[in-house]
Amino acid sequence: MRIEESSWVKKVIKEEQYEKYMNEGKDFINDDEIWEKVEKNKGSTPEKVREIMKKSLDIQTLSPDETATLLNVKDPSLWEEIYETAVKIKRKIYDNRIVTFAPLYCSNYCVNNCLYCGFRRDNNEEIRRKLTLEEVKKETEILAGKVGHKRLIVVYGEHPTSDANYIADTIKAIYSVKVKTKNGYGDIRRVNINAAPMSIEDLAMLKDVGIGTYQVFQETYHHETYKKIHPFGTLKSHYQWRLYSMHRAFEANVDDVAIGALFGLYDWRFEVMGLLYHTIELEKRFGVGPHTVSFPRLTPAKNAPYSQKTQYEVSDEDFKKLVAVIRLSIPYTGMIITAREPASIRREMLPICTQTDASTKIGIGAYSSKKRAQDLAKQQFFIGDARELDDVVKELAEMGYITSFCTAGYRCGRTGKNIMELLKTGREGNFCKLNAILTFREWLDDFASEETKKVGEELIKKEMEEVRARTPRTFSPKVADELTNYYERIKNGERDLYF
Ligand code: SAM
Ligand code: SF4
Repeated sequence: MRIEESSWVKKVIKEEQYEKYMNEGKDFINDDEIWEKVEKNKGSTPEKVREIMKKSLDIQTLSPDETATLLNVKDPSLWEEIYETAVKIKRKIYDNRIVTFAPLYCSNYCVNNCLYCGFRRDNNEEIRRKLTLEEVKKETEILAGKVGHKRLIVVYGEHPTSDANYIADTIKAIYSVKVKTKNGYGDIRRVNINAAPMSIEDLAMLKDVGIGTYQVFQETYHHETYKKIHPFGTLKSHYQWRLYSMHRAFEANVDDVAIGALFGLYDWRFEVMGLLYHTIELEKRFGVGPHTVSFPRLTPAKNAPYSQKTQYEVSDEDFKKLVAVIRLSIPYTGMIITAREPASIRREMLPICTQTDASTKIGIGAYSSKKRAQDLAKQQFFIGDARELDDVVKELAEMGYITSFCTAGYRCGRTGKNIMELLKTGREGNFCKLNAILTFREWLDDFASEETKKVGEELIKKEMEEVRARTPRTFSPKVADELTNYYERIKNGERDLYF
């Protein structure tokens, strides 16, 4: 590592910003306790399991004992019930809506050496690149102006050249882009980021430039495994600095935080318990749980020894179980299934998830580069489903799901604590339903192929009928009229009208 890099590294971690949350030097993940709970809750009766399902259906976070009980279910028919309950919960809170987004990789310079990642410092074959702000805008122009995304997750390696100042500049650059489209204009209305743990001061700066969700995956909650795969002395080897990232984000007044684990590094049941303990800790301290939970599975990456076959590889069958148990354990949370998964798995899991990415490219500068084939070689890891947004939207519409491009909630204060309350009581869904219709209309007019438009129009018709049928019970006549008014105005080229 260069001298300027190592002197930067020394300044990143601020002990006083996480030690205060620890109890006698211990963090909130107790590895032994987790395994004890998993052991203790074996062999529960179907009645007990159904009682737990009922609690989830009442949109209450489960206790560690309850989640451990679910993880121990053996009977396939009971698993079927768990899966069905997961679908019901998703429907109850999020109805038939799926939110889509695209990742935008800004820099693959990294001071860390995570044994599973292609961006690791020791991967000499990786071509290192950092987008200039002009290049960031170019990528955004494609995503917002050609594909039609409204949300991005922007990804950065951890490096002095991609520090919080660079991140803030890229967020501003993305928001500044506005592209003329067929019938209106395209822009990115929500910039979420996936970046290294940061200090409260840096996070406050990102809040000022309009960061959406701040996402940091713990990778593995298991202390010993964490130590093994994040070489000693690297910034990322500091388990607690990472674990308390979201505490610092809340202190910096960032509204929405996202957690996740990289499944395949350690036993999947342990990681599900870790995600739950993390949620309980955030709820206890800040009254708000994670806005979303991610559960990527490890995929092979070049020169990343721990990304190849590991003893903890998660089978498709176990993957489905863990997704369902997360839905039941943290019923209100958004759940992201990514393009790392093949289309068939995504299709199966979408009924319990809320967000997915589409037209995904993870090469740096890959959206605006014509040499698409070469991009594959530059990627951090390999993706399983590279379909375009248009194809994904069409498939979803055929399955009865409306793609929501809504980002309104965040801009009218429906975030953090407020949204938790609305979600738990099912009231958020009413705004979302209307905004999903409006943003879907926008997207169909600006970006859809003729085929997708046809399927989409049918779906919109059904959705409008449903709103009418639920007036005045759920929607006031005034709101229903306003919807018609907004809808017509959007058809005439106005954009970004929302409830
Ligand atoms: N550098 C930041 C960090 O590590 O938090 C953010 C960017 S990093 C590229 C984003 C995420 O990619 C990591 O948190 C990790 O979970 C995921 N990742 C790394 N290697 C992977 C692999 N081989 N397969 C799937 N996901 C991987
Ligand atoms: Fe760097 Fe993040 Fe990859 Fe680790 S996971 S090598 S920190 S980019």
